Parts: sequence; structure tokens; C-alpha cells
Amino acid sequence: MIVLYFENKYAILHLIFNIIAVKIVHTINELQDLVQKLKNEGKTIGLVPTMGALHSGHLSLIQYLRPSVDMIFCSVFVNPTQFNDPEDLKKYPRPIESDIQLLQNNNCDVLFFPSEQEMYPQGEPEWHLDLGELEKAWEGEHRPGHFQGVTQIVYKLFDFVKPDIACFGQKDIQQIKVIQKLITLKNLPVKLAIAPTLRDVSGLALSSRNQRLSDKGLTEASNIYKGLQYIKDNLYTKEVSRLLSEAQNIIEKNENIKTEYIAICNETDLSPVNKINNSQKHIALVAVWLEGVRLIDNLPLD
Ligand code: AMP
Repeated sequence: MIVLYFENKYAILHLIFNIIAVKIVHTINELQDLVQKLKNEGKTIGLVPTMGALHSGHLSLIQYLRPSVDMIFCSVFVNPTQFNDPEDLKKYPRPIESDIQLLQNNNCDVLFFPSEQEMYPQGEPEWHLDLGELEKAWEGEHRPGHFQGVTQIVYKLFDFVKPDIACFGQKDIQQIKVIQKLITLKNLPVKLAIAPTLRDVSGLALSSRNQRLSDKGLTEASNIYKGLQYIKDNLYTKEVSRLLSEAQNIIEKNENIKTEYIAICNETDLSPVNKINNSQKHIALVAVWLEGVRLIDNLPLD
């Protein structure tokens, strides 16, 4: 009886802890009121924008940001304007209950979980930013309009949350470059924090899209990292063109994987290089298709 009492007591405490651990906000008005209140109290705010289907990679961004700010806001919004493929948008996983639980367990203070109508009300003005070469290469080339959608939603989130620091993953390096450009063009008072890519034991970068792969596909996908690592290990001993074709062979060892692009780039502006230059830093970028799922990854090389 007593044991039952204690068990229940802890269950109730656990429930209360969970209920108060993360504040869930659905509307922009409520969000802005909360932000204003926190700013008045002198609190600093960190923002982690996501599309949900959270995994340890997303949660690592919260941990990365935690020591630098008083309050962590995480947004979960599957942003339709950054999808150029309607099927991809339709299939994007949306497990909000487990996302909330994960945010609660990982010390997130506020979850902003708006509706599409809230973020894109009727009569929304056209959005266009001149992103220059960044929009023409790699993800920009293969996902037309993607970075316009990314900058559109990130600008809104920055405007509503007014974060002191926003944290993004190295995994989406081109997205980071684009957001740096957004910050410069709009002169926004926000700092960027870049968290390292979290990988599983096989080296595969964690991604919400991995959920759509079979067990076999997950095993095959680990060759993506092996290919990137091969480039890194041999950077100064082989020609760029040879490195790329050998890395592609490693990635496509299993015929189910098709490489969309693979490149060695200048790490600063992501322009492709065809010769390694000791005076600059390099990064390898890759995008592949596997079981109808598109995966991207990258590896800084120096
Ligand atoms: P997404 O929900 O895919 O838009 O990702 C939200 C944020 O999480 C972005 O800044 C991503 O770069 C970051 N992210 C996604 N996967 C990983 C990972 N494996 N390691 C670190 N950050 C990640």
C-alpha cells in the first residue's frame, strides 16, 4: 500500500515535472508576449529551428546552446515553402507527441508549434532574397526555391523570437551559409552557433529522413560517410577528380544508392575546387538518393 502510494506520488511528480518543463506556444501573439516578458527580465534567448521528427542530432543543438543562453526556444514547423517536391512534403514525418516528450526530457524551455495558417496568413507578400551563387549550386540547383523558403521562415522566426543566438547543424552547411547571408542582408542582431553533425555508430548522419529507410537501406547509407572519410584521408595524396570518382564508387558500392552530386569545395563560399590549395580550407559535400529518400551530408576536410 505504502509502495503504491510512493509510486503514485513519483508518477504524479513526474507528470507535473513534464507538464511544467516545456511551455508550448501555438500563436505568434502569445510568443511575442512571452519574448517581451523575458527580455524585460533581462533573459537571453537561444533559438533552435526544426521541422520536428526530432532525433539526437536536433537535441544536440539544444545541449550545444544551453551554456550560452538563459532560455531555449525550439520551433517545430514543417515549412511548406522550402519543399520543392510535394510528395516529400506529404511524406515528411510529424510525430509531435514524441517530439514534445523529447523536448521535455532535454531541457528545452519553450516549444513554438504554430499552424501553417499562423505562419503564412492569407495575402502573404512575395518573398525573394538575392542569395547569389549559393542559390545556384548544390542544394540550390537540385531543390529550386528551397533556400527562398528557408530564408522566408527563418526570417519570420528571428523576427518573432528575437533570439540572441540561433543554433543550426553543420549537417546542413549550405543552409548555414544562406542564413549568414540573410543576417547580413537584413542586418539582423542575431549570432549563429554551428553545432557539429551527430552520427550513428556506422557514421551515418542522423536525419529525420532516415526513418523512411529500411534496415537494409540504413546499412547501405553508412557508405556515404565512408566515401566522405576516404576523401579526407587522401586529400593531399590524390587528384581531386580521382578522389571524387573513388569516393563515389565507395558510396555507390551497393547499386541502390545513386549520387546526385559529390564535390570538394572551398569551405568559405562552397565554390567547387579542382585542385587542393594549402592556403584555404576545404569541405566535401554529397547528396544521394536511396529507396526514394534524398540524403545529404558533408565533411570538413582540413
Ligand atoms: P531539420 O529539422 O531537418 O530542419 O533540422 C533542424 C536543425 O537540426 C538544422 O539546423 C539541422 O542542421 C540540424 N540537424 C539535423 N540533423 C543533424 C545532425 N545529425 N547533427 C546535428 N544537427 C543536425
